Amino acid sequence: MDTFSTKYDYLIVGSGLFGATFAYQAHKAGKRCLVIDKRPHLGGNVYCEEMEGIHVHKYGAHIFHTSNKEVWKFVNSIVEFNRYTNCPVANYQGKLYNLPFNMNTFYQMWGVTTPDAALAKIEEQKAEALNSLHGREPQNLEEQALTLVGKDIYEKLIKGYTEKQWGRSCTELPAFIIRRLPVRLIFDNNYFNDKYQGIPIGGYNKLIEGLLKGVECKTGVDFFHSEFRDWRKYADKLVYTGPIDEFYDYRFGKLDWRTVSFETEVIDTPNYQGNAVVNYTEREIPFTRVIEHKHFEMFGQEVYDCPKTIISKEFSTEYKPGMEPYYPVNDERNNRLAEQYRGLAIQEKDVIFGGRLAEYKYYDMAPVIEQVLAHFNTKI
Ligand code: FAD
Ligand code: UDP
Repeated sequence: MDTFSTKYDYLIVGSGLFGATFAYQAHKAGKRCLVIDKRPHLGGNVYCEEMEGIHVHKYGAHIFHTSNKEVWKFVNSIVEFNRYTNCPVANYQGKLYNLPFNMNTFYQMWGVTTPDAALAKIEEQKAEALNSLHGREPQNLEEQALTLVGKDIYEKLIKGYTEKQWGRSCTELPAFIIRRLPVRLIFDNNYFNDKYQGIPIGGYNKLIEGLLKGVECKTGVDFFHSEFRDWRKYADKLVYTGPIDEFYDYRFGKLDWRTVSFETEVIDTPNYQGNAVVNYTEREIPFTRVIEHKHFEMFGQEVYDCPKTIISKEFSTEYKPGMEPYYPVNDERNNRLAEQYRGLAIQEKDVIFGGRLAEYKYYDMAPVIEQVLAHFNTKI
């Protein structure tokens, strides 16, 4: 292992979007940073691997979306973004439905052709669920979904997918998870409500390379099993973006995570499913969705100019040591535990905790960048 004679202003553990954006801002402000990551590459979950000329999202499909103009300007100042708009399709027992829930879905589900007819159908479907709540707020995902879109959509497009994804019954899951999905009475398959959306031209690695340009980085170094554990020897401040429970040696107990495993295949056809994302919403199919990576970055004739395609089936699984933690499980036990760890974190003067793992929060990419920009009080 190299020895470092100079002291850094920041030792940054993790080169995902939080760590990389932090390093970029600190470097720009003239601070010396060292970024370490235990993975063999930089970029955390947005890292892509090139196969057959296609950028494969190795840790799951990532679509950048935000309504924050500053964040959008910031990422576009690093790399230009393309016009990709996420329009996933759901496959339930061989029948296709558009997502998110919009006039196309309602037409496919019920044959209704006008917003009034769709609304009447939704109201009819919701009535039973609303009655059984007796005026109280929905307390779990099942109640929330039934009062949002009613029984047919819940049973065909939500229940199986959600229970596969989270490995828990919809009655044990928090309501907010499903509130992420828009419900629209217009024919609009755009999955996100945000003003800006896209994929970096040339792939996410370009974004990470741009953020980390000129910053010293070391991959394959686990903070906890390296000299850097004694970080005060190397830096004035520590930026930690790994799991918060690990930082405190699991003293209150281990947090639960969900993770995803991928089966990636090269297929000898230029266009396998005609869309980047197809969700399989029935319980009996073991994977949650199939990603066809080329559709994030190739459009029109470009799809056919690239003779092969790469697909990844996503299997949602319970996290075990040695796997990558992906999604925090925001149930009561885990929220309480995370709160205990946050109580310790808040007392640290020289450690900055940030990102999905250190905050144990379900963050998209843009809010992670937003937080770092706010930390540096950036005006672009
Ligand atoms: P990460 O990218 O996880 O980076 C943390 C880094 O810390 C990792 O590289 C890890 O190796 C490193 N690390 C951890 N512990 C140590 C240690 N002990 N020593 C050294 N290094 C360590 N967001 C969107 O906006 N749109 C999407 O479409 C989207 N899709 C997603 C799909 C999936 C499957 C997942 C899991 C997330 C998705 N996200 C999406 C969220 C997005 O990935 C996160 O918001 C973003 O990556 C958070 O960045 P981060 O830096 O906090 O975490
Ligand atoms: N969801 C669903 N059916 C779908 C897609 C999503 O029921 O076809 C639910 C599911 O509970 C999921 C939530 O909506 O956890 C949020 O979906 P999103 O795609 O935002 O999740 P992500 O994978 O991006 O975290």
